[in-house]
Amino acid sequence: MVKKILILGGTADARELAEALAADPGLDVTTSLAGRTSAPAMPSGTVRSGGFGGASGLAAHLVDQDISLLIDATHAYAARMSTNAAQASAVAAVPCFRLERPPWLAREGDDWISAASPEAAAAVLPAKARALVTIGRQQIGPFLARLDITVLARMIEGLDSKPLAPHRIMLARPPFALEDEVLLMRTEHITHLVTKNAGGEITSPKLEAARTTGVQIVMIERPDLPDLETARSVEQAIAIAGRMLAGGGYGP
Ligand code: NAP
Repeated sequence: MVKKILILGGTADARELAEALAADPGLDVTTSLAGRTSAPAMPSGTVRSGGFGGASGLAAHLVDQDISLLIDATHAYAARMSTNAAQASAVAAVPCFRLERPPWLAREGDDWISAASPEAAAAVLPAKARALVTIGRQQIGPFLARLDITVLARMIEGLDSKPLAPHRIMLARPPFALEDEVLLMRTEHITHLVTKNAGGEITSPKLEAARTTGVQIVMIERPDLPDLETARSVEQAIAIAGRMLAGGGYGP
């Protein structure tokens, strides 16, 4: 019998996982996207878009759609969706695990400023800082509100309105090469790089570029998430999915 898997997506890892699992004829794979991006990169298999209506809505969806396995492959900072996934899994008694890349770690000699939130990161920047802010558009507000610093905000999709001078938006989609990151930091005279701790290699060249150019890194720390079994790579996720579909336990 074909088994249905629901992947909560929005990341490159979720797409890679969907591609691998959808190649199995015994699996019917759907990826769920939040629906915030107008032209998202599309995963293999079926794609649905938009929220479920909280944990209870997701639990009802799992039961209605006869889902055998739920995989939370959302971004490490999508804390609400991850919390909903853990709760819905327990309520609907559907196995669930998370796919989350290991975070980047500071290397010897690195002097990262740690910030608990985007608001805290914006507050920690000194007057006259020239900050490259790479956290997307949703939480850029506190940075653009600071008119005593200069923000270059890099994001995939733009804002509805132009930011006040001296701030600028730079539209770009990863991956980014090390030499391009170094060039950007040098030509823009960047003093601070603000980033979330996404982990992985697709966007890590910015960290190396900051080291090379002496740019201070402001690292927004990952939020606390519910205690769920966690795959650290797509390969691990495929193995855990196989085990859970075979009946090897579920839940937090
Ligand atoms: P969030 O704050 O944790 O979630 C807010 C609400 O959005 C959820 O309660 C849910 O609505 C809906 N939602 C989120 N992810 C969804 C998904 N994959 N499918 C269906 N509904 C979803 O999430 P967020 O931080 O805004 O992130 C939204 C999406 O962007 C996620 O898919 C995430 O993987 C991706 N993303 C986020 C970041 C980041 O830095 N936060 C970075 C890169 C990509 P209901 O309660 O109505 O179900």
